Amino acid sequence: MAHQKRIPKVAIPKLDRGPPPPPKKPAQNREDRVTRACKTCRKRKVKCSGDVPRCANCQATGLNCVYEQARRDRLKE
Ligand SMILES: [Zn+2]
Ligand SMILES: [Zn+2]
Repeated sequence: MAHQKRIPKVAIPKLDRGPPPPPKKPAQNREDRVTRACKTCRKRKVKCSGDVPRCANCQATGLNCVYEQARRDRLKE
């Protein structure tokens, strides 16, 4: 029989609850960086050149090039 150390179970007062908060990751401005894609490109899921007033795609297709403004634009009232 092997000698196994038996560690008595001691009730440890739970002073700290839960694991420590994870370290903050360096903010990646992914969301912040607004992808400038016109509506047409978004709809067609193509890469928008982001040219104004018309992106390359819209120029080529002759479609209306509309860039959406900030989201809060719609929140009126
Ligand atoms: Zn576009
Ligand atoms: Zn466009």
